[in-house]
Amino acid sequence: MCKDPIAFDLLAAWWLGELPEAQAAALEEHLFGCAHCTRTAETLAALATGVRAAVQDGRVSMVVSAPFVEAMRQAGLRLREYRVEAGGSVSCTIRADDDAVVSRIRAPLAGVERLDLARMQAGGPEVRLADIPFDAESGEVLVVPSAAWLKTMPAFTMRMRLIAVGDAGERQLGEYTFNHAPS
Ligand SMILES: [Zn+2]
Repeated sequence: MCKDPIAFDLLAAWWLGELPEAQAAALEEHLFGCAHCTRTAETLAALATGVRAAVQDGRVSMVVSAPFVEAMRQAGLRLREYRVEAGGSVSCTIRADDDAVVSRIRAPLAGVERLDLARMQAGGPEVRLADIPFDAESGEVLVVPSAAWLKTMPAFTMRMRLIAVGDAGERQLGEYTFNHAPS
């Protein structure tokens, strides 16, 4: 095991070549001597497409697939999970020793072709992610906020909306409220 594992989102940023040079060099030096973090990095590489799509969606949060979450778990990451039904709200947090928070937001997804996620942090503008990955059968979308970012946050409220987009126009499938408080 590793005493000071590299945060998953940092590792993802490194793998995508998005870290500043000095930070990347330090991370590579750690990887060189650490089998645990190297395994996590290999898991990421195996999920190339998912990671790229996720990180391009923005650094504040990623939308990921179920296999991606399973890979995080198998890599030994400590995950804190929340499940929210359409119209629901949840009190959530992140602890210092959590590697990631996974929010499972539920909606009827059968027949949906394209799905967008709009999120709005209290007082801020609504940010829309177009064409997010989802598995219609599971009826849920998996959102993973950046753990590094979340750990710096005071209490705040985040609202999300799932919107089905089709030839006939747009249809809101659900609205979700996350009441975050630091642990
Ligand atoms: Zn390590």
